[in-house]
Amino acid sequence: MSEDTIFSKIIRGDIPTAFVYEDEHCVCINDINPQAPVHLLVIPRKPIPRLVDASVEDQALLGHLMVKAGEIARKAGCGEAFRLVVNNGEQAGQTVFHLHLHILGNKHYSESGL
Ligand code: C5P
Repeated sequence: MSEDTIFSKIIRGDIPTAFVYEDEHCVCINDINPQAPVHLLVIPRKPIPRLVDASVEDQALLGHLMVKAGEIARKAGCGEAFRLVVNNGEQAGQTVFHLHLHILGNKHYSESGL
């Protein structure tokens, strides 16, 4: 779980990537392999590997990511219906060990949907 993931490289600008949104705490990019018509990633600049590696000192940052995810989803045209997904750990499907929120929108999910 090295700190220097592909997302750190994107945040640093080593891999040129268009930011859908950015501020001092996070960036948002389009997912390279979209699983929904809108598939965005909200990524904190701080390289927290997994959600469970976040600590109490990250509370404000985690809240910020959630609030921004809601704003970004609306601006991206998701309306009131979208999903926020965090994969925590390899068995849950996490492949990049730098915390990120998936915004999935404009796709119809069934009621249970999981
Ligand atoms: O939750 P997980 O770690 O599996 O999500 C990583 C996501 O990062 C994937 O959806 C993958 O498509 C995306 N990705 C990306 N650009 C990269 C590498 C991965 O958008 N260069």
